[in-house]
Amino acid sequence: MTTFPVDETPDTAPTDIVTARTGPLADARAQLAKAAEILDLDDGMHQMLATSRREINVTIPLRRDDGTVELFSGYRVQHNVSRGPGKGGLRYSKHVDLDEVRALAMLMTWKCAVVELPYGGAKGGVTIDARSYSPGELERVTRRYTSEIMPMIGPERDIPAPDLGTDERTMAWIMDTYSVNKGYTIPAVVTGKPLEIGGSLGRPTATSAGVVHTLAAAIAERGLRTKDASVAIQGFGKVGSHAAWILHEQGARVVGVSDEFGGLFRAEGLNIPAVFKHVERTGSVVDFPEAQAISNTELLALEVDVLVPAAVEGVLDDSTARTVRARWVVEGANGPTTAAGDKILADAGVVVVPDILANAGGVVVSYFEWVQANQAYWWTLPEIEEKLADRMRKGYADVANLAQRQDLSLRDAALCIGVRRVAEAHEIRGLYP
Ligand code: NAD
Repeated sequence: MTTFPVDETPDTAPTDIVTARTGPLADARAQLAKAAEILDLDDGMHQMLATSRREINVTIPLRRDDGTVELFSGYRVQHNVSRGPGKGGLRYSKHVDLDEVRALAMLMTWKCAVVELPYGGAKGGVTIDARSYSPGELERVTRRYTSEIMPMIGPERDIPAPDLGTDERTMAWIMDTYSVNKGYTIPAVVTGKPLEIGGSLGRPTATSAGVVHTLAAAIAERGLRTKDASVAIQGFGKVGSHAAWILHEQGARVVGVSDEFGGLFRAEGLNIPAVFKHVERTGSVVDFPEAQAISNTELLALEVDVLVPAAVEGVLDDSTARTVRARWVVEGANGPTTAAGDKILADAGVVVVPDILANAGGVVVSYFEWVQANQAYWWTLPEIEEKLADRMRKGYADVANLAQRQDLSLRDAALCIGVRRVAEAHEIRGLYP
C-alpha cells in the first residue's frame, strides 16, 4: 500500500488533506499515517479516516453587557460516526481554530474506540478567551452557539462535554437551550452536567482518575508503585488539579505543579490540599508560599519519575522534549507531545502513555452518564469507580500487550487498536453509494 506523509500529499487526495502542514492536525494525520502503514490500510480507507465526516463553522454575535456587539467563530466537527454518535468536548479558547478542532475530533474517534465505547469522535470550539467575559455574556454565547449547531447534536447524533475553558455550567446551558427548543427535557444531549440535572457521580474527577489508573499500570511494569513515585503536573485545571489530588491521596510525591501563570516546586512534595485552597483564593498556583517558584519550562524538565502534561497541546516539542528527565510521560492533555517531541522522548527511552489512552477516563464516565440519562436510572459512586477502573485497566492491558507483541510504542499500539476498530466498522457497514 502507499501512504502519504502530510507534506507529500498526492494530487488525488481530498483538498482537505493538504490544508495543515504543521500543528495539531498535521500531527494527528502523521499519527494516523503511521497506524495506517502498520495496519496496511488501503489508500481509500486511509483518506476517509484522515478527513472529517461533517463540519460546521458558525458566527456567534454577542451583545456585551455594555451594549456593544462582538462576533466570535464557533466550530463543531464530527470526525467519524461509524461506531456510534459523535462524542467530544467543547473548548473555549482564544487559540481555537478549525484545524485544531479537526485534530481533537480525530483523537476522540481513536480514544472512544480504544476503550471500546460505542461512539465516534467529535469536538467543538469557540474562539473566545472565556475569562474576559461575564457569566451572562458566556451564557449568551453558549446558547447562541448551541442554537447554531442544533441540527448536528443530540443524544443519538453528537454529545458535547466540557473541555478547556468550559465546565458543567456550560453544559447546563447547552442542555437547557436544546431541551427548550425540542419541547422536553433531554439530559443525554450533553455529559459533564451538574448532578441536579442528570449528571453522573464521579464525572468531575473521571479524567484525572483515569490518568492515575494508567500511570499506576505503566510504572508497575517496572516495579514502581504510585505511593513511591515522584510526579510533576503541568496544568492545574479540571484534569491536572484532580490528578494532583488523587496522587497526593495515594501517597505519591507531587513535587511540581503549574498553570498558565507559572509553577511551583517542592522537593519533599507539595501540600496539594493547601495548593487547592490557595487557588480558590487567588485563581492561580503562583505565589503559593510553601514552595519555590518555577517556570512552565522548568516544570517540564524536573527530575521526577512521572511527568503529567495536563494543560494544552504541543508543549513537549523538539526543544522542550530534550529537557525531559522523567522516566514516564502520562498525557493528561490532548496532544501535548508534537511528532518531533515524541521521537526525541522515544530515543531517550522515556515511556509515553498516550492521550487517547491516558485521558480516556473522562469520556468513559461521560458514556456512563449518557447510559444513566438514557435509562433515567443513576448508579452509585462505588459502581462508577469500579466500572471506570475496569475499563482503564482493560484499555491499558490491550495497548501494552499489542505494544509488546509487535514491538511498538504505547502510542502506536493505542492508535493501531483505535484505527483498526474504526476501519473494521467501516468495512462491516459497507459504503453507501
Ligand atoms: P481547564 O481549562 O480546566 O485547565 C487548563 C489548565 O491549563 C489551567 O490550569 C490553565 O491555567 C493551564 N494552562 C493553560 N495554558 C497553559 C500553558 N500555556 N502552560 C501551562 N499551563 C497552561 O482544562 P482541562 O479540562 O483541565 O483540560 C486540560 C487538557 O486535558 C486539555 O488538553 C483537554 O483537552 C484535556 N482533556 C480534558 C478532559 C476533561 O474531562 N476536562 C478530558 C480529556 C482530556
